[in-house]
Amino acid sequence: MEIDTKALAKKYGTPLYMYDFDYIENRYTTLKDAFAGKKSIINYAVKANSNLSVIAHLAKLGAGADCVSIGEVRRALDAGIDKYKIIFSGVGKRDDEIREALQKDILMLNLESEAEMKRVELVALELGKEARISIRVNPNIDPQTHPYISTGLHENKFGVEIDMAKRMYIYANKSEYLNPVGIHFHIGSQLTKLSPIREAAMIVADLVRSLKAIKIDIKFFDVGGGIGVVYDDEVTISATDYTQVIFEATKGLDLTLLCEPGRYMVANAGAFFTKVLYEKNNGGKRFVIVDGGMNDLIRPSLYNAYHKIEAVGVEGEKTPADVVGPVCESGDFFGKNVPLPPLEHNDIIVVHSAGAYGFTMASNYNTRAKPAEVALQNGKDRLIRKRETYEDQVRLELEYLEK
Ligand SMILES: *Cc1c(COP(=O)(O)O)cnc(C)c1O
Repeated sequence: MEIDTKALAKKYGTPLYMYDFDYIENRYTTLKDAFAGKKSIINYAVKANSNLSVIAHLAKLGAGADCVSIGEVRRALDAGIDKYKIIFSGVGKRDDEIREALQKDILMLNLESEAEMKRVELVALELGKEARISIRVNPNIDPQTHPYISTGLHENKFGVEIDMAKRMYIYANKSEYLNPVGIHFHIGSQLTKLSPIREAAMIVADLVRSLKAIKIDIKFFDVGGGIGVVYDDEVTISATDYTQVIFEATKGLDLTLLCEPGRYMVANAGAFFTKVLYEKNNGGKRFVIVDGGMNDLIRPSLYNAYHKIEAVGVEGEKTPADVVGPVCESGDFFGKNVPLPPLEHNDIIVVHSAGAYGFTMASNYNTRAKPAEVALQNGKDRLIRKRETYEDQVRLELEYLEK
């Protein structure tokens, strides 16, 4: 990215998230083109980066959305995503969320248990509506990724086993209030190998065949998200190899192919800018203390995730340093043993690949205000979320001084 980091940091302050919208467009187009010749929808996984401007940008390109709360469904609709391209997933949907999703007439609710199916049926009956549903199948495939972001094994809480799924489809097909239109799996995140996706897709496509054989006509085949991206030097999955595997698995079936990329779309569109506050040495160990913290970007603390870190425009001999934030936790770091030149107060540090699961996982821990977000598009920058203030943070708290 050819950007004047220093100028942006000065204009908007730090800590700051920056997203390259041209990159996002490029990612969307690359993936969509890889589905050429087939009916397909790219359902952007809103939880990766749910800024309304990011979603609206994808909506204009024709994307759908994969949402995991009614709040995300509202964001998708507000940002202009077509309601018939919105899926509502998640293991724990509340009654009010189910009701609103049905009233908003989105494409389908993705069910993750038999109990949830019965709930959805009940709510649909109350509303006198038919609920379009898909069922999330847990194909028991090891995605070979970080255990925290693996979701396709029976030991994970997600989805239902094949046999259970089949029983649920038969039940739903008979129900007056359920319309089983889709099938879904999502085996994990940051997948860099195709074989687990191939295996899962084959298993689930076989289930589709056996359902079609008993006149249950599945129309949407949703392969979930999880395409891995390059944070460091990973070799990951190409869009065309990915779709080829899906095409092979679904050969001979008339289906609309759906996928739900989150990280793939936005991770490397984003960078996190933070400013050096101090350098210090503890028993020979070098620390660079910056003005951003784990509350802004928690991936290193939570998953021990690697993010490339650079000092902008600073020369000098590089020595290893831990880049840490001001939060009162030892786990508050962005990188360990990062080679960095000698740094001074106000030098800018860039944490790369921060566009996915960055801002959306931010919190107010330590009463720290959430950072601002900026979009870069066609060489222009624009603020897409203001920096939070102290007042924003305390606004919802009630009377606290004695009368
Ligand atoms: C999180 C999630 C995604 C997106 O995962 P990425 O790794 O960001 O692509 C897609 N589908 C479901 C159901 C999810 O929970």
